Amino acid sequence: MSLAAYGSRVGLLSHLKTHQQAVAKAFLNGYYMHHDMLGEKGDFVTSPEISQIFGELIGIWYVSEWMAIGKPKTFQLVELGPGRGTLTGDILRVFHQLGSLHNKCNVSIHLVEVSPKLSEIQALTLTGEKIQPESDDTSPVYMKGTSKTGIPIFWYRTLQDVPQGNSFYLAHEFFDALPIHKFQRTEKGWREVLIDIDPEVPDKLRFVLAPAVTPAAKYFIQDEEPRDHVEVCPDAGVLIQKLACRIEKDGGAALIADYGHDGTKTDTFRGFRNHKLHDVLIAPGTADLTADVDFSYLRSMTQGRVTTLGPIAQQEFLKNMGIDVRLQVLLQKSHDVTVREQLIRGYQMLTDPKQMGDRFYFFALLPHHRLKSSDKQVNPGAVN
Ligand code: SAH
Repeated sequence: MSLAAYGSRVGLLSHLKTHQQAVAKAFLNGYYMHHDMLGEKGDFVTSPEISQIFGELIGIWYVSEWMAIGKPKTFQLVELGPGRGTLTGDILRVFHQLGSLHNKCNVSIHLVEVSPKLSEIQALTLTGEKIQPESDDTSPVYMKGTSKTGIPIFWYRTLQDVPQGNSFYLAHEFFDALPIHKFQRTEKGWREVLIDIDPEVPDKLRFVLAPAVTPAAKYFIQDEEPRDHVEVCPDAGVLIQKLACRIEKDGGAALIADYGHDGTKTDTFRGFRNHKLHDVLIAPGTADLTADVDFSYLRSMTQGRVTTLGPIAQQEFLKNMGIDVRLQVLLQKSHDVTVREQLIRGYQMLTDPKQMGDRFYFFALLPHHRLKSSDKQVNPGAVN
């Protein structure tokens, strides 16, 4: 979660100007901007960094979607928040192995990334080179290169800048990083939960309830909301609307994977630093701030423009996509004990319900015409 949420929430309390400036500074120096937070030495580890099988199976999902829509000659792969570029790298390996796709199609990669540091790492992972940023400030493409397998790659700061056209979209652990608003049901009705400075302790932040109805509390809470505490991520709503419009108009598909729930959870906002839970109010900008993705909200924000599939648990998606067979193939190919152990440990982490298997969910958007079946709420990994 970015600190934009702090900015907007604190912004509602006018007496906190000094603090706002500090927050604005923290945002510019922001958590995602200048360091690599992924992996053992960082704050959290993601599935693509745990095992190559994860990205390979996602690659296969895109290949089967590409086949299902008649193997179009031109398409884009668009990844939102590509981290170290590992996931796209694993997908490109799958594309490369499929001659009918790699040799005959005009494929391009489009990465949406705000972090200069991470885009540098992505370039290195995917092209094998250090790439200089583009000198033309007026172009939405801030970096470009060619993958190790010869596919053009373009970097942008927002989805809006990515050209329209038949596209496969991917967002893994991206939506959970977007800012949320928090709301609490009270005797006087819904109130927004804000952040302010504790008057008793200088430099200490605290949660407070807005004294009156804020615009966000007025517009973001549904009339029939059954929960007492709700987190809403309007940025995710806007983004999913854009994806739905693009897929409705140009075709393609979107695969979104994240921790999340289907409109049932309440208070999930938390921080991670050095792989440990971290108080979200302490030292903003130094920890990963995250909130579970509310897939029911994403579904409602597609406004029926596309068919939505899932969410289904990661273990189910990966099993449906053939993770057991892929593991066996890789184990048969490898005689190195360390590699074999790593493969098995990775498989367990990704699929064990107590680890990532039941914590992460897959959710997909497809054009309505893609599925002839009358059941539009099927599982993403069960489609093919
Ligand atoms: N998908 C990767 C990384 C997840 S971390 C993986 O699974 O390993 C979140 C990623 O989103 C990082 O690359 C971060 O820099 C990027 N990011 C966060 N907020 C963003 C925003 N508002 N716009 C674009 N990228 C963003």
